[in-house]
Amino acid sequence: MSESELEPTIEETPPPKADSPRQRFWKRMVRNPLALFSMVWFVILIVSWVWPELLATHDPFKQDVTLQRLFEGPSGDHWLGTDGLGRDHYSRVVFGAGFAFRSIFIAMTIAIGIGVPIGLFSGWRGGRIDRAIMWVNDVLFSLPIILLAMAVIIILTPSLTNAMIGVGIAMATRFVRLTRGVTLAEKEELYVDAARITGISVPRILARYIAPNLLPSLIVQAAIISGAIILIGATLSFLGIGASLDDPDWGVMLNRARPDFRREGIWQIMPSGGALVLTVLAFNLLGDAIRDAIGRDASSNALTITKRVSVAAASTSHAEGDDLVISVRDMDVEFPSAKGPVSEILNGVSFEVRAGETLGVVGESGSGKSMTMLSALGLTPAPGRMTRGSVNFLGEDVTNLTEKAWQSIRGKEVGVIFQEPIAVLNPAMKVGAQIMEPLRIHMGMSKAEARTRAVELLTEVRVPDPARRLDQYPHEFSGGMAQRVGIAMALACEPKLLIADEPSTALDVTVQGQILDLLAEIQTRRNMAIILITHDLGVIAEAADRVLVMYGGQVMETGSVEDVFFRPKHPYTKALLDTMPQNHSGDGELAVIAGIVPQPTAWPTGCRFAPRCVHATDSCTSTMPPLLTVNTDVVRCLRHGEEGFDLAQPASGTEVLS
Ligand code: SF4
Repeated sequence: MSESELEPTIEETPPPKADSPRQRFWKRMVRNPLALFSMVWFVILIVSWVWPELLATHDPFKQDVTLQRLFEGPSGDHWLGTDGLGRDHYSRVVFGAGFAFRSIFIAMTIAIGIGVPIGLFSGWRGGRIDRAIMWVNDVLFSLPIILLAMAVIIILTPSLTNAMIGVGIAMATRFVRLTRGVTLAEKEELYVDAARITGISVPRILARYIAPNLLPSLIVQAAIISGAIILIGATLSFLGIGASLDDPDWGVMLNRARPDFRREGIWQIMPSGGALVLTVLAFNLLGDAIRDAIGRDASSNALTITKRVSVAAASTSHAEGDDLVISVRDMDVEFPSAKGPVSEILNGVSFEVRAGETLGVVGESGSGKSMTMLSALGLTPAPGRMTRGSVNFLGEDVTNLTEKAWQSIRGKEVGVIFQEPIAVLNPAMKVGAQIMEPLRIHMGMSKAEARTRAVELLTEVRVPDPARRLDQYPHEFSGGMAQRVGIAMALACEPKLLIADEPSTALDVTVQGQILDLLAEIQTRRNMAIILITHDLGVIAEAADRVLVMYGGQVMETGSVEDVFFRPKHPYTKALLDTMPQNHSGDGELAVIAGIVPQPTAWPTGCRFAPRCVHATDSCTSTMPPLLTVNTDVVRCLRHGEEGFDLAQPASGTEVLS
């Protein structure tokens, strides 16, 4: 059954009961014989570590003072024989597990404790700081681990603990790389953007949103590195600079057997060598098995959804009253370019929206729509920055607000709905927890109060069985239902301004209509201002009161829906209208705008639309058109007002639907 068939009835059929990700993971693990072997081996090792007396048959330090039972082979009394001092090999191997796990614990605690925070910080900050950190990390990464361990031993004193401190520092470089890579990828995900816009602080985003998604990779890496740590620890002990030469450490046992095994037989090295090989092998097999078990889920769930930046939403209400919610004036945004001069992404952008009004922002991809909204909310992606202009929100100048001050506005006074409803939800958190987060942060609600409010919000956006749905994960929601959750999250703190960035584009036509209707209904009830970003003029016609047309990071035209659709003043607006399927007469191919939006590093001289404009003249390619005021609207075209220059012919079939 399609999503569109499901949603009009609101009685969405619950999906068949499926295994949870955790259940699927364990099923795959136990069905994998190599993983099963690893897990059984680890159970034995862990028991040996925690309670060695349970498995050992002799005191591992007890020597044979009679000198009668030296270098024995396996027997009923000594299952794996004895060493040159008559000590029981089997019992020493059992006690040796404790040394191996202690090595892992020390080195791994240091490696993760240092590597993960640095990787999170480096990946999140990006830019020069990231490059500097990675340069230092790569230098350390290239050094042999044993060399670093030996350096620490020289500085401190020879012992297994000190050796493992050195190994931990060396291994931290692996975790820096891993964590930084995951953070770089995760911070581009829409659910992280949504969390920032919701006003969640950066440390909390790193801890609650990025770290849980790092966990699977971290576990796999830790399993594989643990095998390497045991091997390095044993090597150092074998060389006599790790554990004490009396300890039942596997490396020490190999060291003590080395002079004797040719004369006394293979059983002098078999017990410790076998334990070492089996344990390293088990760690590697376990790492591979976990990666396979997790990977099959990751390849099919929301974690892999590609980020797409967005557009649009709606309301059929018209602006009433003159309560200014947001006003942006002459905003420039620039990005430093790696190859040359600064790239000007936005130039002189101005607009305003009032309570109860819907402003439709339209333009092709790359025209600057989403960047305009991000910059207006103080979220210009680094290393870009707003270099000119001002932003006024609810009567306050917020142009130079600190990030901390913005966090109390975003998510509370401003809500944002994105295009990809599933991608905007953190796949590792239950839906209820995600809706409750802004309520707890901004409204100071207790957990119980936030849950009650979350149920009310899901009811308001018409999600059936809301109490049950709160305890589900995002992958259990259809696209339409996930978008309703996104709307509930955006509306949680009763924002004065809702930015809807292509909220219905990823949905099928029927569900799209429902979402637009729902937004319109909620807007009427709450008298919210809405900024609806879209490339779809049909959505604008249906939902907006006024229109802002953007191209090349500039405002090309503003006007009421009626003016823009029936009396366009700018050739770009006219060209967009001509490409609407509704305006196609049925003969020939659909109209297209020739060419593409240029890159910010290659803005043409003069009018930025000139290379694609069918009305361009010589002066258009040399003179930047100023922004002309026409009554309450603006237009950026040199030929506007020129005698005989008339774009006001409505394209055939154009109809304003609202
Ligand atoms: S200024 Fe010239 S090139 Fe630019 S939109 Fe107007 S007519 Fe076209």
